[in-house]
Amino acid sequence: MALLQDINLPPSALPAQCDVIVVGAGPAGSAAALTLARAGFDVVLVDQQAFPRDKVCGDGLIPDAHHALRRLGLLDEVLAQAQPVGHVGVIGPRGGRVDVPGTLAVLPRRELDWILCRGAVAAGARMFAPLRFVGTLESTVDGVAQVVGARLRSGDTTHEVRAAWVLIASGAPPQALQAAGVCERRTPSGVALRGYVRNPALVGRLSELEVVWHPKMKRGYGWIFPCPNGVFNIGVGVAHSHARRRGAPARGGATMQDVNLRAMFEAFTRVHPAARELVSGGEWVGELKGAPLRCSLDGAQLSRPGLLVSGEAAGSTYAFTGEGIGKALETGTLAAEAVIEGRRDAAGEPQVRAVYEQRVRALAPRYAVYERAQAVNHHPWLVDLLVWSARRSPGRLKRMSGVLEETHVPSSLTSPRAWWRLLFDRR
Ligand SMILES: Cc1cc2nc3c(=O)[nH]c(=O)nc-3n(C[C@H](O)[C@H](O)[C@H](O)COP(=O)(O)OP(=O)(O)OC[C@H]3O[C@@H](n4cnc5c(N)ncnc54)[C@H](O)[C@@H]3O)c2cc1C
Repeated sequence: MALLQDINLPPSALPAQCDVIVVGAGPAGSAAALTLARAGFDVVLVDQQAFPRDKVCGDGLIPDAHHALRRLGLLDEVLAQAQPVGHVGVIGPRGGRVDVPGTLAVLPRRELDWILCRGAVAAGARMFAPLRFVGTLESTVDGVAQVVGARLRSGDTTHEVRAAWVLIASGAPPQALQAAGVCERRTPSGVALRGYVRNPALVGRLSELEVVWHPKMKRGYGWIFPCPNGVFNIGVGVAHSHARRRGAPARGGATMQDVNLRAMFEAFTRVHPAARELVSGGEWVGELKGAPLRCSLDGAQLSRPGLLVSGEAAGSTYAFTGEGIGKALETGTLAAEAVIEGRRDAAGEPQVRAVYEQRVRALAPRYAVYERAQAVNHHPWLVDLLVWSARRSPGRLKRMSGVLEETHVPSSLTSPRAWWRLLFDRR
């Protein structure tokens, strides 16, 4: 493993200018920095935390993450450390279960994100951390405010770096989005809580990504994902955690609903036997920690002159399941590619932004599928129906696997008729 000081450069080494400043070294930011640096761009990557760092997550890598990691050339390194998994175990309130096949793995984010940001640095990006983005540098071009750099803070000192592009990849918290002038909604789409429990006795018995729905976990679900070395990631999440107040403006004005994630976690360990066994016979590794989620490409502008937004900052996480590593990698890569193509084709700044926004919007049908599936979180009995239906026909199970693998055209699942087909058509 490389020494920490090899990665986290001090602010005193910041250049006065560079080609692109990337804010956030999670999956979105590191993927963008790596892609840009490989294409010869001078990239400054900043994160408010020194790496390696922890990130509250379920650590599950679904097929889109495998695909994106392969494109970045990092899949083998990730899989060498990850726990391989072959199915998502979908478990209903009555205990019925169906195992949907998929290309899956689990690797704690401390390790995954360390591989990603080291990949960016190996490609030539310079990583400065801990360093916090606090605002943009702007100049007026033809009467329009254009971002021309970033203000970055370490302790009481503010540094200014000028750049042709600033990429915001700061994840779900809204502060960086607000500082960049692109935040449309402060509140998250959902909230989730997770902890790690070591229990070697369950290795081999809990070998799939188990996702559990039950009326005792209102509007959400619980999960157990097997990490390497006899450790399990266990957690609960709630979708639509923030409701809009009556009469509140269309943007903003949402408040936290009556959600108690710790009580929900307790309920999970009561109603799901495997969760009970894991926790009662295991040893906690660290504390239970919660974090927000931003989903469904909602809550922020995708760009403004001189600035692009990608990853969860742009709402790239899927609603319903809260999976977002793959789409963070993908949208970070899309942002980098738009900038690279813009330079190659001598395209204007507005054109680069238009290309990026168009490519991100092209993902919208996939998000619509996951938004529609949110019904399951509100009506857990639908999972029993899904389990019953999948068990009756291999064709149905194959279609579910196709949705997970993203080999089905997802737009075909955005109508009620298509969902009916998924559940009841025997072909
Ligand atoms: C409990 C929970 C479970 C989840 N489980 C899964 C799962 O199993 N699988 C899955 O695919 N997804 C899961 N997700 C979603 C996943 O964590 C996110 O989709 C993913 O982390 C988004 O990546 P990102 O790069 O956009 O943002 P992040 O990973 O959040 O990275 C953003 C980075 O920006 C930095 N930053 C923020 N503000 C600033 C600033 N002002 N200046 C400098 N740096 C800044 C942060 O320190 C951070 O390192 C889960 C989320 C939660 C909360």
